[in-house]
Amino acid sequence: MRYDVIIVGAGAMGSAAAMHLAARGRRVIAFDRFDVPNDQGSSHGLTRIIRIAYYEHPSYVPLLVRAAELWAELERRSGERLFVRTGSIDASAPGDPVFEGSRRSCEMHGLRHEVLTSAELARRFPAYHLPPDHVAVLQPDGGFLIPEIAVAAHARVAVADGASIRAGERVLSWEERGDGVEVTTERGTYIADQLVLSAGSWMADFVPGLATLFEPERQVVAWFEIGDSSKFAPGCFPVFNLTVEEGRYYGFPEWGTPGFKVGRYHHLGERVHPDSVDRDVHDADIDVLHAFARRYFPEGAGRALRSSVCLFTNTPDEHFIIDRLPDHERVHVVSACSGHGFKFASVVGETVADLVTDGESRFELSLFSIGRFLGHKGRV
Ligand SMILES: Cc1cc2nc3c(=O)[nH]c(=O)nc-3n(C[C@H](O)[C@H](O)[C@H](O)COP(=O)(O)OP(=O)(O)OC[C@H]3O[C@@H](n4cnc5c(N)ncnc54)[C@H](O)[C@@H]3O)c2cc1C
Repeated sequence: MRYDVIIVGAGAMGSAAAMHLAARGRRVIAFDRFDVPNDQGSSHGLTRIIRIAYYEHPSYVPLLVRAAELWAELERRSGERLFVRTGSIDASAPGDPVFEGSRRSCEMHGLRHEVLTSAELARRFPAYHLPPDHVAVLQPDGGFLIPEIAVAAHARVAVADGASIRAGERVLSWEERGDGVEVTTERGTYIADQLVLSAGSWMADFVPGLATLFEPERQVVAWFEIGDSSKFAPGCFPVFNLTVEEGRYYGFPEWGTPGFKVGRYHHLGERVHPDSVDRDVHDADIDVLHAFARRYFPEGAGRALRSSVCLFTNTPDEHFIIDRLPDHERVHVVSACSGHGFKFASVVGETVADLVTDGESRFELSLFSIGRFLGHKGRV
């Protein structure tokens, strides 16, 4: 059977793309080398922050507004709870990009928000003990998504609409041939009109000429025992992004498993290959997170109850890549990570379906072009 679209990697982005393509009546098949969902890539660990205020770049905001609508639609369609609203905090010293960028994105896009001093923050949310000079943007629409359930929900609805999801079937290679793309897996050969590459941390395997644009990095998150659970409940603990002198950290209220979950962006700075990454957690991994919790969230800094290794896939400027592969009109490269992509999976899925079926998107995507790294602007 010939397919309209083959998807390589049915993680956060691939499962969403499969769902949106199937909903439009496309014959779509998505392969994943592991289970769907799995804990080998970038989309596991019980919670992912979604925030509409966006210090990384204000032009993400329209995508985020649509992403939130689509997550709500997926909740209705799948019958699963995928989103918990807590509000989001972006805090740092004045002048740091986290606070300034977040406030700017709210002002530019008319998002409701409050600016709080460190003392005001502690009065409202007593688990927070930030340095006295810190300031925070509180945006009430943020919260967290439940990633494993979200990936499964996209895949399940995709299958209900006719997509084929092949878990446990590794893709070995692809080749553009005349009027289509041929994909070889460890079990067979498949042909489609178009190919979507959404292999997360394994992306370089499929676009070796662009390997330097996709740098996998080892991450560790940990859950620490909480002294007073009432201060870490979703109703009184907004998710946060926070720059302190030790680095940039993120954290969540207690949810799904006991403990206060915290992670540090770029953790210990370990560039890795996903097939050989150290998936054990060591004292040095925990120590850096524990020291942060002890200093800024002391009531959530008991012993480590749980931890998890996960992978970022970083681009050089930490913005996504969503584009056609140069010189391969039928091949779409979809890498939305650099540690902040999960919240976009719903809208990335819809965008990929737009690009595959109509050749264009209603969103401005030049921020995500491959061309920005090739010495010229715009989509290639
Ligand atoms: C610790 C951590 C915390 C994060 N926190 C946040 C957050 O709070 N908010 C947020 O928005 N984002 C966050 N992110 C980023 C977010 O999780 C990622 O952007 C997102 O999961 C990337 O999805 P993906 O589809 O690109 O990758 P994945 O979901 O990993 O999917 C890629 C899939 O490709 C498959 N694959 C690879 N090679 C092959 C092959 N040869 N054949 C078939 N299949 C293959 C893999 O098995 C995998 O399932 C975080 C990431 C990490 C690691």
